[in-house]
Amino acid sequence: MKKITNRALSVLLIAALVIFGMGAYIINYIDHGKEWALYFSRSNSDSTGHLVDRNGIVLAYFSGEENLFSPDEFTREANYHVTGDYWDRTGTGILSRYWSDSQGFSLLTGTTRAEDSILSLSIDARLNNKIYECLGRENDGAMLVCNYRTGELLGMVSSPSLDPLNPGEELRDGTYINRCISASFIPGSIFKLITAAAAIENMPDLSTRKFFCEGEYKIAGVPVTCIAGHWNQSFEEALSNSCNIAFAQIAVDLGQQTMIKYVQEYGMLDSHKLSGISTAKGSYPLNFVGDPELGWSGIGQSTDLVCPYSMLRLVCAIANGGTVIEPYMIQGEESNEVQLVKASTAAKLAEMMNYTAIDHYGAEEMFPGLNIAAKTGTAELGDGTAHSWFVGFLQDEEHPYAFVTLVERGGFGITAAGSVTGEVLQWAVENLE
Ligand SMILES: [Zn+2]
Repeated sequence: MKKITNRALSVLLIAALVIFGMGAYIINYIDHGKEWALYFSRSNSDSTGHLVDRNGIVLAYFSGEENLFSPDEFTREANYHVTGDYWDRTGTGILSRYWSDSQGFSLLTGTTRAEDSILSLSIDARLNNKIYECLGRENDGAMLVCNYRTGELLGMVSSPSLDPLNPGEELRDGTYINRCISASFIPGSIFKLITAAAAIENMPDLSTRKFFCEGEYKIAGVPVTCIAGHWNQSFEEALSNSCNIAFAQIAVDLGQQTMIKYVQEYGMLDSHKLSGISTAKGSYPLNFVGDPELGWSGIGQSTDLVCPYSMLRLVCAIANGGTVIEPYMIQGEESNEVQLVKASTAAKLAEMMNYTAIDHYGAEEMFPGLNIAAKTGTAELGDGTAHSWFVGFLQDEEHPYAFVTLVERGGFGITAAGSVTGEVLQWAVENLE
């Protein structure tokens, strides 16, 4: 936890620097802040504003005299990391980011309006409530849900959370951090999607190659282990089995420079912008490491760190033929398209993720009625515990949802994060417009 806290703190520092850095602020303001700033402009005491979700549910309301939130405590808590608060306790919420009190420079003069203004989010507050309920108030974790065809961010929840109106005395470690965008975590096997993409594009014999696993394999004398032997596997089977030995071998065969190239190209080391809010960078060994460490880095261990938001971009791209429609959460915002993954590689990964879900996770039982493509991660923390990850998307044109789910110290990927995801997606398919 200490490690994460330190990282989270430095991320918070960076976020604070960005928010208070006037230079960066002005650039952002000129870019696309103009209209949004209007919404929260209240220097005219007659002006009032509403922050609403995609269905018009009020998440925050302010006037000259009052600063209010949803009347429902659970809604306030579940949506806290989206809204933030009026007091800038989390630097990354919508209110923190676009609140007029922090915008005291002349460009804004004359932009105040007496009439009520409304800022609409793409977020569905009911979905966030469902996610928060499934993650569990008592667990640490995060979940993102995005429409990969449009880029609309539908759900974003980070736990622990708090009631902005009544934060309480003793907050859990990192409560103010939005784990979805402002922190990076050991990825474990979800990272194999990146190693797999590099293999698809750089190993011509992949379709005929067999990967042998008897539970342990030594790279330069250092063992890499699987829970059990996977024996003779095709490449597709190795991903489905999430075989550490196969993917450690692949990373060593590809070499460190090729691995770095893909980690960089897929944006894992970059800070991105979600509606103008900066996200956390990840990490990967960039200086020379020997083969054993390289092997471990190819299976998402070593010094690998991934921000859930960066992983969301990648699964959105895989789901959408290789192109990510950059996620956003303010309705009407323009979104860029980025070709993140080669179309043929995205198609192959999607096929393998669907095969994995059906063949390995028993999708019909765990995710009844959902055509799901996914990858689990069980990220060993070195103290006997593991982060539980589940990432992927629905192959469903009516419900084109991509997701990233993390339950910190939740154990096996499929058990904790997998069941949270299953429950949330069932709800989403039945209830989202
Ligand atoms: Zn294995």
